[in-house]
Amino acid sequence: MPSAGKDKGTGRYGQQRGMGRLRRANLKQTGRLGGWERHDEDAEIFDRHGDKDRGSHAGERLLSQFNRLVAAGGAEAASGDPAEVCEVRPGLVVVRFTDGREESAAIRRGLEKRMAGVSNTIAVGDRVRVEREAGDLAIAAIEPRRNQLARSDSHNRALEHVLAANVDLLVAVAAVREPDFKHGFVDRALLLAAAHGIAAAVAVTKRDLGDPAPMVGLYAGLGYPCIAADARDTADGGVLELRRLLQGRSCVFAGQSGVGKSSLVNACFPGLGARVGSVAEEGFGRHTTTMARSFPLPGGGTLIDTPGIRECVVGGLAPVDVALHYPDLARLQPSCRFPDCTHRHEPDCAVLAAVEAGVIAASRYWSYRSIVDEA
Ligand code: GDP
Ligand code: ZN
Repeated sequence: MPSAGKDKGTGRYGQQRGMGRLRRANLKQTGRLGGWERHDEDAEIFDRHGDKDRGSHAGERLLSQFNRLVAAGGAEAASGDPAEVCEVRPGLVVVRFTDGREESAAIRRGLEKRMAGVSNTIAVGDRVRVEREAGDLAIAAIEPRRNQLARSDSHNRALEHVLAANVDLLVAVAAVREPDFKHGFVDRALLLAAAHGIAAAVAVTKRDLGDPAPMVGLYAGLGYPCIAADARDTADGGVLELRRLLQGRSCVFAGQSGVGKSSLVNACFPGLGARVGSVAEEGFGRHTTTMARSFPLPGGGTLIDTPGIRECVVGGLAPVDVALHYPDLARLQPSCRFPDCTHRHEPDCAVLAAVEAGVIAASRYWSYRSIVDEA
């Protein structure tokens, strides 16, 4: 790495010196230094969730493997009634018909094909074909998935557990205050969505408790729909906007407990919030089973509730891939000296320079760092 001295007197000097400062901050990884702020909530999120190195992302490979398998049974897909899987728990699958009726169904033998690396064949959101066998409903075929959200299985870390399929929108929820806005969590949720090819939005709750403008400015500036809302008021502009955003889509909310997810859902769709959140993560320790349930939204669309999403663990991504899913970092990557720049210590790193100049938010840089540093 070139020394700061070498560039003395050139326009680059400041940038190099800034990088030195950043490097020192990195070494310390604590507190503030020259305006750099490390968000300790990042560390906190990790400490609570051990699935650091394996997470939800062996993703694309598993999705295409799944789609190849179900396409192989393609002829079946034409027969039977179409339905959507709305609940999955051990030994039970519930499907919803197009008229809204729900019924539990067995998975036909042979459909439960052995898929290497996956713990569950069927997930909430799957479009299926069902047939009656001696009065009982059986799932005869699964249609290819547009996308899927997965995380490592809690029984066997070598396996992926598919939490939901065919998701249109992931909404990252965080409060202005009480609890404090966690940039680390929001950025992880956005990364999780991007890594699985799912559109994402940000909802900033409890706007009556503080000014949401900095968060809205940041995330809207990155291109995400970002809505601030007061869930206590059903006529709140943010609530109305969020309702419009959710309607007709298959949505997943990701937010830490207490940020106001159920209140927000209730404000948008009265009565629904009480049902959402009732889906439990059963068992304890290693033998936790993640369930999932989807609820129809008035006016179309579904809200998928799965406790498995609450942690937003993203693993298995190389630094360049993480940066690729950070729009603010990805934009500058071509300007870095090295095409595989990890934006940590490399000379002539456009990202480090932009953070130093305040063009990239420090919170964004440090959430990126906390993800790539643990890998
Ligand atoms: P969840 O755990 O994310 O589902 O959060 P809840 O919806 O249960 O809300 C947690 C607490 O925050 C409850 O006491 C709510 O009344 C409160 N709360 C939720 N939304 C708002 C809001 O917009 N403004 C205020 N002041 N309080 C809220
Ligand atoms: Zn770089």
